[in-house]
Amino acid sequence: MAICKTEAIVTKSLKLGETSKIVWLYTKDFGKVKVVAKAARAPKNRFGSSLELFTHSAVVFYKKDRRDLQLLSQSDALRHFRAFEADVAKFAFASAVIELLDSMVMGEEPNPGLFQLVLDALARLEACPRSALRTVFWSFELHAADLLGYRPELWKCARCGKEGELPRFAPLKGGLICRACSAKDSDSFEVSPEARDFLRKLQAAPVSESAFDAAGPRLEAEIDRIVEVFLQYHVDRLPGLKSLRLVRNLK
Ligand SMILES: [Zn+2]
Repeated sequence: MAICKTEAIVTKSLKLGETSKIVWLYTKDFGKVKVVAKAARAPKNRFGSSLELFTHSAVVFYKKDRRDLQLLSQSDALRHFRAFEADVAKFAFASAVIELLDSMVMGEEPNPGLFQLVLDALARLEACPRSALRTVFWSFELHAADLLGYRPELWKCARCGKEGELPRFAPLKGGLICRACSAKDSDSFEVSPEARDFLRKLQAAPVSESAFDAAGPRLEAEIDRIVEVFLQYHVDRLPGLKSLRLVRNLK
């Protein structure tokens, strides 16, 4: 049995018995971990508010390799995201970040860069105006894909590597492609120059600087479609994600 000390984000919890809780954590050093927090619902318990949804906490747990549920020994809140409790739209986007993360990460593989991206995205969603929630979410989606090894190619043809005009998006090729290549690729669709520029802007800026406003419903629908179709090739469970459907339909 190993004693593991790391940082975590609370992604889900369930009541267990009279006073305990099962808590799903996304950790900086151990990927996804499910823990039991004994007596976490008892009055004046040692975990305080550190196990609330979205909370960033410093945790210590005992890990047995062949056990599915680990034992949480200590948890101290480092940061709460209180704005999500009071704002339905913000809560929906924060939930979509967590749900997408859960479906993109398989298990215990550590990815400190992705952990930091989730924290940055939550912080940005908390601070940004409502009109910018969607761009912050797209930014999270693009950067998460990048950190998991499938960065969309937006700057040169994803098929032949040529730079220049890239008028179509080919999800199977993983990005934008040139006109000549699109004749050989039936699985591509037209992308407006505005959408292409907007995607490049999203990819070039860190999520912490991504809160620029989207430019109208038509462009918004186009970006939504491109990002969704792209991610579908990499995330098996994507079509079934409830919170993702919810934010796509949020006006
Ligand atoms: Zn090409």
